[in-house]
Amino acid sequence: MLKGRTALVTGSTSGIGLGIAKALARQGANIVLNGFGDVAGPRAEVDALGVKTAYHGADMSKPAEIEDMMKFAASTFGRVDILVNNAGIQHVANVEDFPVEKWDAIIAINLSSAFHTTRLAVPAMRAANWGRIINVASTHGLVASPQKSAYVASKHAIVGFTKSVALETATTGVTCNAICPGWVLTPLVQKQIDARAEREAIPVEQARRDLLAEKEPSLQFTTPEELGELAVFFCSDAAKNVRGAAWNMDGGWTAQ
Ligand code: NAD
Repeated sequence: MLKGRTALVTGSTSGIGLGIAKALARQGANIVLNGFGDVAGPRAEVDALGVKTAYHGADMSKPAEIEDMMKFAASTFGRVDILVNNAGIQHVANVEDFPVEKWDAIIAINLSSAFHTTRLAVPAMRAANWGRIINVASTHGLVASPQKSAYVASKHAIVGFTKSVALETATTGVTCNAICPGWVLTPLVQKQIDARAEREAIPVEQARRDLLAEKEPSLQFTTPEELGELAVFFCSDAAKNVRGAAWNMDGGWTAQ
């Protein structure tokens, strides 16, 4: 379905971003990977799906590096047809204790990076009259939790940003939507489970069950593979009139 298209997925060396990159690659899209940590392993997983891949290590908190990544993607594959703004970080603390540099980093990485990639990707998408922008928000783009003020602010903001870009492109073949996952068992969430086990002096397995039970009626994690399939749907022709949605896949979290 996506043969000949190019997808750039930020934060795709791990977790949800890697799941989305693989799902798009399974549909034939060439992939530009981005993110920190081990690159060779995740890249080999995408290469194994038989598409072309490239990697750029831009730090999503640095606008100049983002600009360089967008130029690199365009010069490597001609154009970015599918932009997935996924890179994100978390920090958990009460607002009065929240480190100022963590606030700034969360807003830069979870929110402002999507502004920079989007402003740089839209002109070529408009010219081609086809494009898909998918912002990985969160249930925390729709509802809040305590101790996550920066994260919740960044995710609510990216849902608003998604709607504005969707309106600006509404008469074109470019769509912009957000995905709002509930709990997904990635390193970002494992850290929170480990912290809970330590804080409450309980086994990690119990901390994992408690974390789910607190928010998700299904008592199940959403998987990167399931989120990847939702991204594939947004890229399909059937989704061409899905615009400005904040689509939850959250085991019932936000239905309560
Ligand atoms: P993860 O920690 O597994 O992956 C995060 C990715 O972002 C990694 O590839 C990492 O290298 C990259 N990254 C981090 N900082 C970066 C930076 N400054 N520049 C470039 N890349 C950077 O986390 P995940 O759970 O897969 O999260 C991915 C997205 O999904 C985030 O936006 C997160 O907020 C969102 N999300 C996660 C969950 C969940 O339960 N895990 C739920 C809802 C939303």
